[in-house]
Amino acid sequence: MADPYPQVFYRDALVPAAQAALGVATSAVLYGLSVYTVLPVRVDGRCSAFRLPEHYRRLVESCTIIGIDRFAAQWSYDRFAATVQQLVTANAPQRDVFVRVTVHVDESIPGTRVRGCSTAVSAFVYDAVPIVPQDGMRLKSSPWRRIPDYAIPSRAKVNGAYVNSVLAKQDAIDSGYDDCVFLDAAGHVCELSAANIFVVRGETLITPDVSCDILDGITRRTVLTLAAEEGIPVAERRVDLTELYIADEVFATGTSSGVAPALQVDGRTVGDGKPGPILQALRKRYAAALRADDPHGWVTIL
Ligand code: PMP
Repeated sequence: MADPYPQVFYRDALVPAAQAALGVATSAVLYGLSVYTVLPVRVDGRCSAFRLPEHYRRLVESCTIIGIDRFAAQWSYDRFAATVQQLVTANAPQRDVFVRVTVHVDESIPGTRVRGCSTAVSAFVYDAVPIVPQDGMRLKSSPWRRIPDYAIPSRAKVNGAYVNSVLAKQDAIDSGYDDCVFLDAAGHVCELSAANIFVVRGETLITPDVSCDILDGITRRTVLTLAAEEGIPVAERRVDLTELYIADEVFATGTSSGVAPALQVDGRTVGDGKPGPILQALRKRYAAALRADDPHGWVTIL
């Protein structure tokens, strides 16, 4: 991840990045007890935030799942949107950026609990550099399994859960791959370390459904809508690892990944080894969807 731009939002004001410091004894630091979201802002004269209400809602839902009960009471959508606007405007980005908003449990407490604890919100802007190669990833199925909903729910974007992603991504990198394919305990495909996964078999676009221990990605939802508009048949269902081996196309979606093709999985070449037509069509539509003049109503001009 690139460095944050100089102005950072912390608690209730913009401050220089170095002044936004969480205490070492907070639950956020001790237990990874923070939830977050990352959203794209396209910069082309105007700054356009993508699907801001959905990002707010997912943040609230992550809080609800984890039991962080003060955020929604103190942060309306309007306050959230105004803060993102103030932050982006103050940093005046000249190129596309991501905004990361985090709700930290900042109380120093005698033990592992959450309800009723105080929270601090932070937000910062950084250059929108993709976290995976855009021209063809090589993926490795991970020996680390995805944390199930009954342990740490993937549906909640909770910082501590990202240890699971770090283990799997690092294993993939150490083995010479770009990223992992996370499987659940029974061996079904979940997602990458920080992106959702799509598979094309014949005419059909397939992706694990939201009860498959995945993050309900906002890019995933977007791509499902764009595929329907493109007339592509879509199936949201359980996916086996071996389906990736015989797929015509495999690609990942995510705010920080974009819509990115995988050309190899576990040493098997995907399709003809080139980015496929469905990926290319959806990537083009996604790029257009981020623009201020897109008709879907997904963009908030900041
Ligand atoms: N899965 C995981 C585990 C992620 O961290 C992300 C990135 N937020 C995604 C999927 C993609 O979600 P989104 O499209 O909302 O960025």
